[in-house]
Amino acid sequence: MRQRDGPNLGISQIVRLANPEIFEKLTEIIYQKPDETKEESKEDDAPQCAVCYQDFEQCDVLKQLPCRHQFHKACLKPWFDKKNTCPLCRVELSA
Ligand SMILES: [Zn+2]
Ligand SMILES: [Zn+2]
Repeated sequence: MRQRDGPNLGISQIVRLANPEIFEKLTEIIYQKPDETKEESKEDDAPQCAVCYQDFEQCDVLKQLPCRHQFHKACLKPWFDKKNTCPLCRVELSA
């Protein structure tokens, strides 16, 4: 039975914080509800934030990702503190 000392790597887990620049670079949008008030339009059509599941309201500040998904700026920021992916489609963003 052989015993080998493992390589002395230590535990150097690289904690890679999501780049805040990525978040800042995202397109910022002030949400405007469509002028058309069609009675036909269903609530399902209302664009929604996939983080908090709230419908976007007039003048909400949104961030749009390159994948065209939109989220509240306030919702997306804490997400991007941990990850650099789209909460919906998981596409990875790079600086
Ligand atoms: Zn939200
Ligand atoms: Zn997406």
